[in-house]
Amino acid sequence: MSEASALLRLQEIDLELMRTKKTAEALPQRQKVAAARAAAKKVAGELTKIVGQRKDLEIELNELEDSKKFFSGKVTEIQEGTYNQDFRSAQELDFTLSTLAKKIEKCDYDTEHLLPRLETAERAEKNARALADRLEKEEAAQVASFKEAMEQITSRVKSLAAERERIVASLPATLVASYEAARKRFGGVAVETLEGNRPSACRVALQPSSFTDIRRSGAEVTTCPYCKRILVVATEEA
Ligand SMILES: [Zn+2]
Repeated sequence: MSEASALLRLQEIDLELMRTKKTAEALPQRQKVAAARAAAKKVAGELTKIVGQRKDLEIELNELEDSKKFFSGKVTEIQEGTYNQDFRSAQELDFTLSTLAKKIEKCDYDTEHLLPRLETAERAEKNARALADRLEKEEAAQVASFKEAMEQITSRVKSLAAERERIVASLPATLVASYEAARKRFGGVAVETLEGNRPSACRVALQPSSFTDIRRSGAEVTTCPYCKRILVVATEEA
């Protein structure tokens, strides 16, 4: 490979490396993973609240059930005559029975009101768990896709870096040094080619005299008189 071709290839490699780095930084999976994680965190917070509500309702319902059992037990005791009634009149017992009936009624009433709330909480919990599940899967899929994309990028970068090393080793150190300096100065495009009498990067048409001079010198590689980039005049392959 001629110096001119080697320089052009070196530039292609460096530009591709720059593009690849940008691509890696801008991989959409990164944001998608972050979004899924943020959503999952929010759902987890909501789920904790819903589960708390559901458990509170279950406790209340259990307590109502226990109370109802207790009051019903008392009713049975009175009806079966096993209730401690030594000092109670029939009138007092009637009163106790009616009080117990009211208490049982209140338990039933409260239970009727709590049951739909429990159903609502259970439904909300089920939905939140399904959503958490979906988000977890989405995150895993995006992580896998990110990993795959990064593997492809890494492998491409490795192969470019290896080729770059070979090219750099084949070029004179001074040329590599001026290439690196120009690359830094111009933020990437250090080498330009001639398109007719126009350098490809600065696009300032060469004066006929400099154009003739460059042609006459027979050099493949020179310096652009305007922007001072490395100017590839011709490659031996061309
Ligand atoms: Zn130029």
